[in-house]
Amino acid sequence: MTDTQTTNAATMRAMGERAQQKIDALAAISADPDRLTRLYLTPEHKRAAKLVGSWMDEAGLSVRMDAAGTMRGVLPPGRPGRSGNKTLLIGSHIDTVIDGGRYDGNLGVVVGLLAVEALKARGETLPFAVEILAFGDEEGVRYPVTLTSSAVAAGVFDPATLDQKDRSGTTLRDALVAFGGDPAALAGEAFQPSSVLGYLEVHIEQGPVLERINAPLGVVTAIASQSRHRIRIRGEAGHAGTVPMAMRRDALVAASELIVGIEAIARKDRKNALVATVGEIEALPGASNVIPAEVRLSLDVRAASDEARREAVAAILSLARKTEAVRQVALTFETVLEKPVAACGRRMMAAIQEGASRVMGKPAQTLLSGAGHDGLSMVRLCEYGMIFVRCRGGISHNPAEFVTIDDMGAAVEGLVETILALARQEDDQ
Ligand SMILES: [Zn+2]
Repeated sequence: MTDTQTTNAATMRAMGERAQQKIDALAAISADPDRLTRLYLTPEHKRAAKLVGSWMDEAGLSVRMDAAGTMRGVLPPGRPGRSGNKTLLIGSHIDTVIDGGRYDGNLGVVVGLLAVEALKARGETLPFAVEILAFGDEEGVRYPVTLTSSAVAAGVFDPATLDQKDRSGTTLRDALVAFGGDPAALAGEAFQPSSVLGYLEVHIEQGPVLERINAPLGVVTAIASQSRHRIRIRGEAGHAGTVPMAMRRDALVAASELIVGIEAIARKDRKNALVATVGEIEALPGASNVIPAEVRLSLDVRAASDEARREAVAAILSLARKTEAVRQVALTFETVLEKPVAACGRRMMAAIQEGASRVMGKPAQTLLSGAGHDGLSMVRLCEYGMIFVRCRGGISHNPAEFVTIDDMGAAVEGLVETILALARQEDDQ
């Protein structure tokens, strides 16, 4: 190790330790004393947003909470830029799932903040403004919608969403007002596409690839194409003791055959990162002595391209029709959600590759994100890019979620180098 490398390692370690302190401070803010639960527009969300706001303030950013409850901190440009002092957005979310982990989302906000602090401390001036965004609703746990706050920032929020209710019957509109937000001002919170350079997000991988290849950071290429479906299979109920096997139309046996077939279809396609999951199953009437008359299944299909996903869904549908005929059941297949692939921008990916490889001393692995992120909103505003950070066992949405201090330090340094790479691009234009 050279002297510079030793210094860098020590600096990164110190930044990782600061990240850990902030992550722990945020993790202490929860609706439940013994687990981490922080839902959109709750008192916990407010406390977390305020804490982030105070950190932004300490970092010398100009801070405000927008009408959707997003905490925003701006670092003005330090010098003229050739494309006219646009704003580089850096963000992630501070809401969690119920009994979630402390790094999902929160890490991206903390790393963004520490990167800006590091740039200031090193006297770096940038030819663009940087705005840190702490979104409040990525997970979509409280309301049936998701990505509310990033949709507002991207200018793609659907006002009809304000009528959605949570379990207690509180509308999103009322919750927003109680929080201190302003439903009438949401449309005015959208960034102008011409004023934005791009959106960057640092996020835990939530998968096992980086751990397997022993790399702290990776470059995301896209958020996967995804669809969700509901399958309903109707057979015929009957007495478990009296109807002979040959005369049954058992909906659960038909469903089982289909589920195994779905797995086989998904396993055949390795090229397009195809995954298919039946995560919910309900058998009716649901008695041990009755032949199942009806089964309801959920199906989630994701792939690296819309085409690969559509092909897989078509193959699953044709298998379903075959099962229907062979098993003499009635089957309905409904598509309830369809999201096209959201590709990361070339310019953002190139900057992240440059930044991450500088920190790691080797080229960064490219990865597809199987999970959805705020980038799904932001891609409709501007070019976006994501840096994935290794997490232990690929575990997330779970209290066992874990990122090492060194990896968090590498994430801060990787983001600093990515921002500097974008600044160089701006100078070369
Ligand atoms: Zn997340």
